[in-house]
Amino acid sequence: MSKSKVSIVKYEKPLESVRKLIESINLFDEIPKDAKVFIKPNIVYWNRFTNFPKWGVITSSRVIEDVVVLLKEHGIDDISIGEGIVTGDVKDTETAADAFEKLGYNVLKEKYGVNPINTFQRPFEKVDLGTGFTTKFSSDALAADVVIDIPVLKTHSQAVVTLGFKNLKGLISQPSRKKFHSADPEKDLHYNVAQLPNKLKKVITILDGIYTLERGPAIDGKAHRTNILVASADILSADMVGSKLLGIEPTDVPHLVVAAKARKRPMDLSDVEIVGEKIEDLATHHEWDFIYNEEGDLPLPLLRIGVKGLKYRKYDSSLCTYCSGINGMLLLIIKNAWQSRKGKPFDNVEFLNGKLQEPTPGMNKTILIGQCQCNKNKDHPDIKEMIPIKGCPPSMEDVRHAFSQIGIELPGGMLDNTNRSGAGYLMAKYKGRPEFEESFFQIA
Ligand code: SF4
Repeated sequence: MSKSKVSIVKYEKPLESVRKLIESINLFDEIPKDAKVFIKPNIVYWNRFTNFPKWGVITSSRVIEDVVVLLKEHGIDDISIGEGIVTGDVKDTETAADAFEKLGYNVLKEKYGVNPINTFQRPFEKVDLGTGFTTKFSSDALAADVVIDIPVLKTHSQAVVTLGFKNLKGLISQPSRKKFHSADPEKDLHYNVAQLPNKLKKVITILDGIYTLERGPAIDGKAHRTNILVASADILSADMVGSKLLGIEPTDVPHLVVAAKARKRPMDLSDVEIVGEKIEDLATHHEWDFIYNEEGDLPLPLLRIGVKGLKYRKYDSSLCTYCSGINGMLLLIIKNAWQSRKGKPFDNVEFLNGKLQEPTPGMNKTILIGQCQCNKNKDHPDIKEMIPIKGCPPSMEDVRHAFSQIGIELPGGMLDNTNRSGAGYLMAKYKGRPEFEESFFQIA
């Protein structure tokens, strides 16, 4: 049986490095000149109000432009680039427009005729991913002859890594994304992610590891300048190699285990041929999990400052991206509130999230974050005083009301402002470090 080829190259120079990556395994040779090509970058987060760390979070525009130039050299003209950026409001088109403009996608249009697509403004098609699980998938991606999947080489707090498979989740509708974080113990997030490429005609995976990320996938992770590029026509091989480069065994990544089993593939790379750099020369360990106390009910940042009288349970895979974004903000509010309480414990308050968590008996107040929690636990006998934060995702007004009920008053407008500018302070940790270059996310 012939082995799947995976190319690994050290990023050194614009165009030349990506050329070496692609040409060393003749990756574009099989794409017909009249093929419809859809590029899927990763823009997991965008903030149009403030600058924020993109390193290790967003696919670099450097790699995107180089891929486009090489496609053009192969005579391929029908190229789109599409993403469905996570925002609180699915009708928000300004965020995607701002991201596409600032990342240089409109320059790609002018220079090379590439068509930028906000997938939320285009049709979705209902597809069965082959398991009876129906999903609304971007019609443009389904219609493409080739999807060039270009995630960042990074870790993920729920999926362990987010590479070729996971990046395709950005091609489904918002309700489908919520459904993906299922409470079903078998057909859970990991199982669903493993099905994502099933209905696409052909997927080429390119992992952009110019910057990699620990404790990803978002802007609060820790980025490294790693200078690695990986490519393969086989998504599973690319992701297993990517995982090893992040210092994580593929067997420790549940969705890769599911995908390998479905394809009857070994996970020791014995059926993969590496072309270029050796994995062992470049692999560095990346932490992916967020640390909580032993009981799993207080995250490290709250543990460190000695928060008492409050439980904030660790997320599970049923917590979807939309509530997950709010979680970070809630933890920050609690941290700030604790600092002004001068050691006075909270009144036995518990926060619950996702679709699975159940209340701890004996707590005085239970805050249910999001509609999933409200539906699950609204009649739970162990809840003394229920404080629901309704909405899917939760509304800021309900967040403010919930905090008020545990003695934390948030000024009107503060939450919206936190949302808008909260990302800016994370730039500080990259200040004075010249290896973190903003120019990787621009196209001249
Ligand atoms: S309530 Fe939260 S976790 Fe549940 S589907 Fe809505 S946004 Fe996702």
